[in-house]
Amino acid sequence: MTSDAHPTDRFGVISDIHGNLEALQAVLATLEIAGVRDIVCCGDVVGYGASPNECVALLRTREIPTVLGNHDVAVLGSEEIESFNEMARDAVLWTRDVLTPENLAWLAALPMTIERHGAFFVHASPCSPSEWNYVLTYVDAREAFNWFAQPLCFLGHSHQPFFIALANGELYHIRQEEAPLDPLTRMLVNVGSVGQPRDRDPRAACVVVDPEARLIQLLRVDYDIAAAQARIHRVGRHRGLAERLAHGC
Ligand code: ZN
Repeated sequence: MTSDAHPTDRFGVISDIHGNLEALQAVLATLEIAGVRDIVCCGDVVGYGASPNECVALLRTREIPTVLGNHDVAVLGSEEIESFNEMARDAVLWTRDVLTPENLAWLAALPMTIERHGAFFVHASPCSPSEWNYVLTYVDAREAFNWFAQPLCFLGHSHQPFFIALANGELYHIRQEEAPLDPLTRMLVNVGSVGQPRDRDPRAACVVVDPEARLIQLLRVDYDIAAAQARIHRVGRHRGLAERLAHGC
């Protein structure tokens, strides 16, 4: 489907939960208070954190449309994990062991991309979604705009939020926590990470699209980091996985 229309309904976008239940609960509560009824998730529900079953269960219960992430694929065992660092690999293998068959089946059924609200959703990059390339530079961003037809594309993967706009053939990096919803502007939005932010802000990240206010807003949400860290220690995972949550990197 190709659509030139900008969304008309308010919706939220989350990504990279990585088994962090405390962060996910805090973000869902914040989105509810913000009047968001529909949420889409850009993948990596599991990996790193100590609550993979609880996070999957919450998305399943809330019927949140979710795309597949590279850590989700790694947990399913269908992709090499040699490229992962030691902490990530350890977390993937542990997650694979503890996930229930029902939750593994739910992950296995996730699509690579979603179209909803006239927008496009993918985990890593709209060009070759299953290759898990990062969108990090202007060159990456310009190429990415060629691979979706909608006005808006939401993604995650780098755990570093950004707004890149394309208007009149020019790219703009919007260095603010909100970007205007303008019918003449297409937008590539990295929604950051719920469960393991890496932009030196340890608060959980999520995005709200508000057509009435004509804004896309990046929200940062405080959550109980100590509780998430305690769970990681309790299940005997790498200390570094817990420590990095406090630093947002
Ligand atoms: Zn991730």
